Amino acid sequence: MQLTINIADQLKPRPDETNLGFGNIFTDHMFNMDYDPEKGWHNPRIEPYGPIEMDPATMVLHYGQEVFEGLKAFRRQDGAVQLFRPKDNLKRLNRSCKKLCIPPVDLDFTLQALKKLVEIEKEWVPGAAGTSLYVRPTIIATDPFLGVRASYTYRFFIILSPVGAYYAEGFNPVKIMVSRDHVRAVRGGVGDAKTAGNYAASLLAGEKAHREGYTQVLWLDGVERKYVEEVGSMNIFFVIGDELITPELNGSILPGITRDAVLFLAAAWNMNVSERKISIDEVMDAHQSGALREIFGSGTAAVISPVGELKYGDQVIRIGDGRVGPVAQKFFDAITNIQYGKDDDAYGWIEPI
Ligand SMILES: *Cc1c(COP(=O)(O)O)cnc(C)c1O
Repeated sequence: MQLTINIADQLKPRPDETNLGFGNIFTDHMFNMDYDPEKGWHNPRIEPYGPIEMDPATMVLHYGQEVFEGLKAFRRQDGAVQLFRPKDNLKRLNRSCKKLCIPPVDLDFTLQALKKLVEIEKEWVPGAAGTSLYVRPTIIATDPFLGVRASYTYRFFIILSPVGAYYAEGFNPVKIMVSRDHVRAVRGGVGDAKTAGNYAASLLAGEKAHREGYTQVLWLDGVERKYVEEVGSMNIFFVIGDELITPELNGSILPGITRDAVLFLAAAWNMNVSERKISIDEVMDAHQSGALREIFGSGTAAVISPVGELKYGDQVIRIGDGRVGPVAQKFFDAITNIQYGKDDDAYGWIEPI
């Protein structure tokens, strides 16, 4: 396949790097590629960023047949630009495709196209502390049809957005609320795929949490509403005594790449680390006994997000006097130092542009 490149005549003004939010500014170009059953994936092209015109009957708008990814490009001190574990994101994209009956993309070709797009938009990769260029690959079902079935045609696009820190609070502990009334995903469903419906399903609980002053929802399993699964759109870790615990992947948890990086580092550092079931009662009991030392989330957007307060029913517990714990800090430093090229890429996680 030949990648066509069409550069925009007029480039946008660049935003102020020291004042970036998350996901509200987009670069000059995007990647597009189409699928139909005869040609397969075809017509890959980098072209000016712009709206996608579609029929109101387009299937993705009605039944949510969609998958996406989120990864980042970082600017090193020496000016070079690099991606963090992009192959893992593309592999996960294909796993999500499988769950959503979407034809997979060619991993090598897609990685090359993604790298080319970031190279063309290199000037958009911010250099200020904590900033990066967020990369959003997305595939949508494009048949104009109102029957329920998998679409025959698809559009794959990649857009880029220069971003600052994910949370307005910065790298500070956030307050989270356990959702008892709502669940995010169930086993046998699509909770382990990055697909639109999971996020639509999370909005109501998120709004309720926000109204009570909480930043994120802590999700329990959809069957017994007993075991911890994720926090917001992040994976979750607990430090209880000297054990680092994260829920085991059970089909309704999204297998995060940051989660994987934390587990990898924990093993490399000889920590006592477990992937296992952990009930919300165990967490509350550990707090009671004084053994609960830290809670933190992990995900591309925030990297590591310490939790300072947790609400479960009418119990509110505070973790670590509102300060960032040493374990969360250690993972944050180790991962961001690799991402920004301050430390060597000892584990093969970096893809240079
Ligand atoms: C994307 C995502 C994560 C984190 O995955 P990363 O690969 O670490 O960014 C965790 N949970 C959900 C629901 C997600 O969508």
